[in-house]
Amino acid sequence: MKQNIELNQLDILNFAQSSGALSGKLPLLGFERLCAEDSRKSPEESINWSLNGQQIKTPDGINQIWLHLKANTHVMMTCQRCLELASFDLNVDRSFRFVDSEATALEQDDENEEDLLVMDKKFNTLELIEDELIMSLPIVPRHQVCQNLFLEDLAKEGQENPEFQRPNPFAVLANLKKSTKT
Ligand SMILES: [Zn+2]
Repeated sequence: MKQNIELNQLDILNFAQSSGALSGKLPLLGFERLCAEDSRKSPEESINWSLNGQQIKTPDGINQIWLHLKANTHVMMTCQRCLELASFDLNVDRSFRFVDSEATALEQDDENEEDLLVMDKKFNTLELIEDELIMSLPIVPRHQVCQNLFLEDLAKEGQENPEFQRPNPFAVLANLKKSTKT
C-alpha cells in the first residue's frame, strides 16, 4: 500500500483511472459507529478491507468510474432470543459507480440497479467501509441455535412432569403463570 494515499481523502477519478488497488487491516476500535454495536469491543478485532478502482468504457463510449469494496469483520451482539452474546461475521462485497453530481445520481437512480455515489477528489473510503459494514449487521441478532433457551428448558421440565406429558403452548403458558405466581 502506498503510504501517501489517505484513505479518508481518496481521489476517486485518479484511483479508478490508474486501476488503483488498496487493501489492509484496521482495528475495529477505530470505527466508532460500528463499535457501538459490538458488545465485546476487543482491541484485537480488526476489519480486513480492499478497494479496487476501475474505469470501464461502455459500448456508447462513456467512461464509467467504479469502486469495488470488500470488507469483513466480526462482532458480538446480544441474541434477542436467549439474551446471551452471539458472534456474527460481517461481509461486504459491493461495487459503486461514481457520477459527477448529486443531480445525476438522483436522475439515474431509478433506471440503474447499481449503487451510485457522487465523484469526489477527497472521498472518505473509511466512512464507506463503516457504513457498509453497519448495513450488513443483522437486523435482529440471534444465534442460529441458542444454547440456553428458556422455553426449551421449560419444555423439558414439562416432559419430566407427568402432568405435562405432551406439552402444548397452553400447558407451557399455564406452567409459566404458575411459576410467576410463586
Ligand atoms: Zn441465542
